[in-house]
Amino acid sequence: MSEKSLYEMAVEQFNRAASLMDLEPDLAEVLRRPKRVLIVEFPVRMDDGHVEVFTGYRVQHNVARGPAKGGIRYHPDVTLDEVKALAFWMTWKTAVMNLPFGGGKGGVKVDPKRLSRSELERLSRRFFSEIQVIIGPYNDIPAPDVNTNADVMAWYMDTYSMNVGHTVLGIVTGKPVELGGSKGREEATGRGVKVCAGLAMDVLGIDPKKATVAVQGFGNVGQFAALLISQELGSKVVAVSDSRGGIYNPEGFDVEELIRYKKEHGTVVTYPKGERITNEELLELDVDILVPAALEGAIHAGNAERIKAKAVVEGANGPTTPEADEILSRRGILVVPDILANAGGVTVSYFEWVQDLQSFFWDLDQVRNALEKMMKGAFNDVMKVKEKYNVDMRTAAYILAIDRVAYATKKRGIYP
Ligand code: GLU
Repeated sequence: MSEKSLYEMAVEQFNRAASLMDLEPDLAEVLRRPKRVLIVEFPVRMDDGHVEVFTGYRVQHNVARGPAKGGIRYHPDVTLDEVKALAFWMTWKTAVMNLPFGGGKGGVKVDPKRLSRSELERLSRRFFSEIQVIIGPYNDIPAPDVNTNADVMAWYMDTYSMNVGHTVLGIVTGKPVELGGSKGREEATGRGVKVCAGLAMDVLGIDPKKATVAVQGFGNVGQFAALLISQELGSKVVAVSDSRGGIYNPEGFDVEELIRYKKEHGTVVTYPKGERITNEELLELDVDILVPAALEGAIHAGNAERIKAKAVVEGANGPTTPEADEILSRRGILVVPDILANAGGVTVSYFEWVQDLQSFFWDLDQVRNALEKMMKGAFNDVMKVKEKYNVDMRTAAYILAIDRVAYATKKRGIYP
C-alpha cells in the first residue's frame, strides 16, 4: 500500500480532474477542504459496570448544494483521516447524482462485534447526542455505513427526538421501514451496483447471461449486489468473500442460499459448495466483472497488474488507490467509480428524507424505478464527460461533480 493517507489519495483524484477543468486555484482549495470537523470523546458504561471512553468523528465536507449527507461507520480502524476522505467522497457522490445535498461522514473507533446489544445501544445513543450540536434534518443527515444498520438508525432517531422533545423522522435515513424508513433502502446500494454492472457490460459488449462476477465483501452492499446481479442480470456469481476469506465455484452460486448461510454462520468461508480462496485470490480471478464491496485500498499498486476482470464496479468507497487506477486504465480495464457505482444508497436515502419531510410514503416499485432511472441517467452523464475529455470514468465523474459544486459555490458567493 502507498504511504499516502486516504484523504491525500482522495484529494489526488480530485486534483486529477481539477487540472483538466477551468477551475480557479482559490476555488479548488475551498472545495478540497472539509467545512467542519468534530471530534468527540465520550464515556459508555459497559455491562460489567466499568466505563470505557470512545473516540468518534463527524465531518461535514461541503454543504454548498444542501445539507451534509453520509453514513456513520463503526470499525476499530476508524481515524479522522479516513472519515475526512469518506466525507469528501460523499460531496462528489451526491453531486454526481445531482441530489440537493453536500457531503458528510461519521465514525466511531470501536469493534462492534465485541459489544453486547445493550452496550451497542448505549454507545450509539451517547455518540449521537455528542454530535447533535452539528446534526439536524436541514443541517446534516446521517445514515448506515460499515457495521451500522436500521436498528442503529432507530436508536439515533429516538435519541435526537428525545433530546428535542418531538419525533423527527428526517434526522437520519436507513431507518426501519415501519419507522419512517423507505422501502427499498436496504437493497439500494446493491441495486445501484447492479445497474452499473449491467451498463458496464453494455459498454464492453458482454452478454450479461454469459458473464461471470466476483464480489469482495459480503455485507449489505456485497450481498444485494450479488443477489440482484444473479437474479436480475442473469450473470453467474462465481466468487464471494468476507473478512475471513472467500469461496469460489465456477458454476456460480445460489446467492439466496449463500445469504441465508452467512446469516446463520456469520461467514461464507465454510459454505460447503465452493472451493476456499483468499480475498487476494478473489480479486485476481479471471472474471468479467469484479465488485470490490469491502473496505478501502483493496486494489493497489501491488495487485493492479494482476486484476483480470474486464470491469471493476466499486461497491465500496475508495477500493482503488490512484496508482492502481493508472495501471487499470492503462490496461484498458473499465472502472465504474465508487462515487457513481455505490451511489444507489444515498439516492434512496434522499427519497427517504423527502418522504419523511412530506410524511407521505412511496411503494417499492416507485422507489426502484426512480432509483434505476437516476442511476442510468448519472451513468450516461458520466460517459458523456468521459468522451468529451477522453478520460477514465472516475475523472469524468469528478469533473461532472466538481462543476456542479463549483457552480453552487460561485453563484452563492463567498460570505461575507
Ligand atoms: N454510507 C453510504 C455511502 O457511503 C450511504 C450514505 C447515505 O445514505 O447517506 O454512500
